[in-house]
Amino acid sequence: MVRRKMKDHYRKLSFITDLGGMQSALGELRGFGHPKQPSLTPGCPHQPGDPVLDENWFCGTIKGKIAGHPENGMEYPFYGERIFEEALVGFVKGDDPIFEEYKEIIGPHHFTPWEIMAWQAKNNGVEPPPAEDISVVSFVMPLTKATRQDNKMATDWLAERWAQTRLHGELFSQIFVREIVTYLMSRGILAVAPDVTPIFNKKRYPNVGWASPWSHRHVAYAAGLGTFGMHDFLITEKGCAHRLGSFVVNLRLQPNRERPEDIHANCLHYQGKKCLKCMERCPADAISRDGAHDKEKCYKRVADSLKHCNRNYHIFIYGCGLCATGVPCEFQIPKPLQKK
Ligand code: SF4
Ligand code: SF4
Repeated sequence: MVRRKMKDHYRKLSFITDLGGMQSALGELRGFGHPKQPSLTPGCPHQPGDPVLDENWFCGTIKGKIAGHPENGMEYPFYGERIFEEALVGFVKGDDPIFEEYKEIIGPHHFTPWEIMAWQAKNNGVEPPPAEDISVVSFVMPLTKATRQDNKMATDWLAERWAQTRLHGELFSQIFVREIVTYLMSRGILAVAPDVTPIFNKKRYPNVGWASPWSHRHVAYAAGLGTFGMHDFLITEKGCAHRLGSFVVNLRLQPNRERPEDIHANCLHYQGKKCLKCMERCPADAISRDGAHDKEKCYKRVADSLKHCNRNYHIFIYGCGLCATGVPCEFQIPKPLQKK
């Protein structure tokens, strides 16, 4: 879905007029309203001049989309500014045992790459490929310095640039991943972005609270792109102020990063060093020294921000991210934990 960008004034009565924002929220929560999946062109031979679809192609294509795509842009009053900086890209094999572990850790509802690929194969009337012929492409899109600075100054509710990033950034991510998935399907290669299918919906689950059946964060950890902090965000080499995305392809791609064993390797507090700046930043008391991140308290705060965003920023979105800015892990791995 391409949403018309407001160039020189605010949208009026966004609570009822921002249909794109509402549709995005429903898609995120209930899997409604996504465009129809692109169709597979079966038996499509490799044509002379077609690029080789290897790891370099995926890295270059994702970085190229972020550098030059017209949808990577803010709207009024920041019209003309980019949403994201250069991406980090990683790969996970479809038969990586970590996906079975996620069935235990996150819950049985979390898809394996094979399960989501089998859904796409069925849609297209073909047999699903074996798990070893599947890979997951994961990417990190760091937020701009201006957005991080704005949210760093916020003490109560998310800043306006952060709110726009939540909405326009998510839509941009869905658009460019769809372009890649459509291209792959036109080349006869099954591909799917799990978060824009009707089988994606967020629910409250026992043990883990609010969760979705495809966690970009856990996929990014699996791809070696970062580790979890006290705030539950993924701390990457470009910090935790970012948005993540991932999609599944019927290709054998080699992992290009080492995955740390310690899921908290980049968090100062978990590594026994003084910090907890994220706890100090949280306006909802949702992070505590011993209890780490209380997802229920966080969820409530994020949901309550909807009114603030509509009233002040004139878009239909919710968010927060205060704990991801003004902290040592905001735009890098905290210095004391950086490898020499
Ligand atoms: S602010 Fe400190 S304690 Fe919190 S996640 Fe970042 S490094 Fe960890
Ligand atoms: S996102 Fe906001 S409410 Fe949630 S833990 Fe971070 S600061 Fe607290």
